[in-house]
Amino acid sequence: MSIFFEKMTQAFADEKIDPIANKKIPIQYCCHNYEDFSEKITQILSKYKNNKVFILHDGKNKKSDKDSNTNILEKISKILANTFSVIEKNLATESNSNCDEIHASEYFLKKTTDLILNETDCEIYIALGSGTITDLLKHSLFLNKPNALFISIPTAMTVTAFSSSFSVVDISGAKRTRQSKDIYATFWLTPLLQAAPMELSRAGYGDLLARFVAYGDWYLGFKLGISEKYDELAFRLMEVFAEPLKQVASEFGQKELSTRAVEISAAALAMAGIAMSLSGETTPLSGYEHVISHALDFLRLSSDRPLVLHGEQVALASLTSAMSFEWLLEIENFDLKKFRSMNEKDTNQIINHFFSAAPFFGKDEDKFSESERKKIDINLSAKLHSAKEIFISDYLKKSQKWDIAKERFTDFIHEWPEIKAHLKKLTLSSHSMQALLEQAQLPIFPEATTPNTTALEYRWAIRFAPFIRSRFCLADFIFWIGEDCCIAAAT
Ligand SMILES: [Zn+2]
Repeated sequence: MSIFFEKMTQAFADEKIDPIANKKIPIQYCCHNYEDFSEKITQILSKYKNNKVFILHDGKNKKSDKDSNTNILEKISKILANTFSVIEKNLATESNSNCDEIHASEYFLKKTTDLILNETDCEIYIALGSGTITDLLKHSLFLNKPNALFISIPTAMTVTAFSSSFSVVDISGAKRTRQSKDIYATFWLTPLLQAAPMELSRAGYGDLLARFVAYGDWYLGFKLGISEKYDELAFRLMEVFAEPLKQVASEFGQKELSTRAVEISAAALAMAGIAMSLSGETTPLSGYEHVISHALDFLRLSSDRPLVLHGEQVALASLTSAMSFEWLLEIENFDLKKFRSMNEKDTNQIINHFFSAAPFFGKDEDKFSESERKKIDINLSAKLHSAKEIFISDYLKKSQKWDIAKERFTDFIHEWPEIKAHLKKLTLSSHSMQALLEQAQLPIFPEATTPNTTALEYRWAIRFAPFIRSRFCLADFIFWIGEDCCIAAAT
């Protein structure tokens, strides 16, 4: 076992959490070779001998380690076939799609559900692939086969989905995190993860950087009285990996990761997923930076453009968040006359305004003639209708809480110096955040994402941030106190 996975075990012990008894904590295996993997998986599944094992994958050809050409699916199937009857399902071919088109949408969720419901006597399900494949299978099992055994085998260290009991599913372009099935075990295969494309590992690293800002959103929301509960368990659990994560940044800017870097990144991602599951919400690792990322995804999903890697966007937005926190920490006095409050009609109006000004097509925005644009707008407005309904109802939930919180704002002002001091402890300075991004070769401006994001898209996403989801983040506060999120982000 790796020392970084041992750190995880130690962190649970320090918090008096029993990882074996707690269903929210999947067993974490870090395997340095396939013999080790074979032994461990056969062992944990021994009571199911000769049973069926279902593997869902996306059909992409992925190398099992950097020096061989053996495909990972072939490798894993062969190992499992010694003891089990293996059912492999390629979601791309099963849904008549290209593997790059698969995302966690209602359509692919339905396809996944059809596949698992076809297997009437199978109890063991494995997601072999990305966060998307994992989320789809995890959520479909949650809804349809809650008692099945679910195992995740990440093929790249991209997101926290591999160990968390949440799934991110997009509904009409609006990404929503849902409670999902608890995972039984996660297998982190270092040779496989080392062979994964660097841009994916780098993006996963970027997603983890949210850890250095998102707690600020949660704490601020709690202090304002918008979020009911707050605890720092997840912060402490993740703190174990704060220094190792900083030290390893530069490896993500290189061609290949060392085994040590893979272990750190895998253990931190695993812990991030678990920390969220234990908190019962994604709040500890998903604040303003994720909201910006979701807003950017919304633009792209609405116009059927390919998404930017999630972690790349989150990394860039984490820098924006760090800068915005610094801006906030400069505030000495609040001008109560500038405070905003909005009812349903106002919200509807402002969202309409945002939609009509939205750069849905990114850098192709100017390419359309007036008549083409009209046609597009008609198509879009039908598509955007249900997203708008979700945005309005979600925004009103927190806005109503703000209306109440505003009345007690003198208490908040009274406590402001202490709140600021604690916020400073919870968040990383923009200077340090930028240094991490630069070392890891993650984007520090919108145009550097792949595919690139225009400055206009990015500014739109920042300003639209208050309307993306019901949970509070710093953008809401900036908006409510009558300031401009783009100005706060540019200091
Ligand atoms: Zn994320």
